[in-house]
Amino acid sequence: MRIILLGPPGSGKGTQAQLLVQRYGIVQLSTGEMLRAAVAAGTPVGLKAKEIMASGALVPDEVVVGIISDRIDQPDARNGFILDGFPRTVPQAEALDDLLKQKHLKLDAVIELRVNESALLHRVETRVAQMRERGEEVRLDDTPEVLTKRLANYRNQTEPLIHYYSERRKLSTIDGMMAIDEVTRAIHRQLLALGAVEPATRAKSVAKAAPAKKARAAKAATPKAAKKPAKTAKKPAKSTKKAAKAVKGPKAAKKTVKKAGKKAGKKAGKKAAKKATKKTARKAVKKGARKAAKKVTKKRAKR
Ligand code: AMP
Repeated sequence: MRIILLGPPGSGKGTQAQLLVQRYGIVQLSTGEMLRAAVAAGTPVGLKAKEIMASGALVPDEVVVGIISDRIDQPDARNGFILDGFPRTVPQAEALDDLLKQKHLKLDAVIELRVNESALLHRVETRVAQMRERGEEVRLDDTPEVLTKRLANYRNQTEPLIHYYSERRKLSTIDGMMAIDEVTRAIHRQLLALGAVEPATRAKSVAKAAPAKKARAAKAATPKAAKKPAKTAKKPAKSTKKAAKAVKGPKAAKKTVKKAGKKAGKKAGKKAAKKATKKTARKAVKKGARKAAKKVTKKRAKR
């Protein structure tokens, strides 16, 4: 599964990405994180990006596209990925389309987390206070001034992507103001609706969704059992039970199987009764013949 999380700074993209990673076993590709790592390691990319990031501006498109292209090729991304913070401009989105095409990969969904802008400043302030409490290093660009600039960048450069992806029928918008777990559930529902993820309880939902199909399957399984009624007369359920077990599903299917079993039993019973009558008749004829013969012998002896 390959998805993009779209939303302004503080909308909860990072938090949701981490939760989705745990749930679906895919990787989170955050350009912001990668750039911060590059800055910390002092790589050429890091040196280039350091000042730009501190000011709240965007790093040049070709730099982030290069980073993402390399990262997608890593073995851990083969199973799928969540792009967090990328693409951020229309040229980046176009470059991503080309990249995915070249690599024969398909994008499943773009999830936009829509939030109330006035709440964002408060959210980021809370995040900073919590990080300070935990003794963690606070991001240089998490100040009210830089945040205002990042928000303006989002509006001018990233928001056009909403139109870009909605035109391509990839966009799903989710209310990012809900509680964290509610947002996660809404994303999951959306991914299910798009067919991007397999339902966890696939067998159960299939059984619920298509009882008629199961019933047909059960019916198809019954004639075999009915063909061997003699053995199944007393225990008609042996083979039919197997069929029901294989179906393991709707009551309707089990009923069909039971009915067929009973039918088979009745048929076998009738056959057995017929057989028994014939046997008795034959026995009676034999007995009668024996009696007649005895009579003849007795008469002859008297003479
Ligand atoms: P983030 O952690 O996503 O908020 O990103 C932090 C900073 O990294 C941004 O303010 C930009 O300076 C830079 N950055 C991250 N992703 C991109 C991107 N896709 N394009 C350009 N700059 C980016």
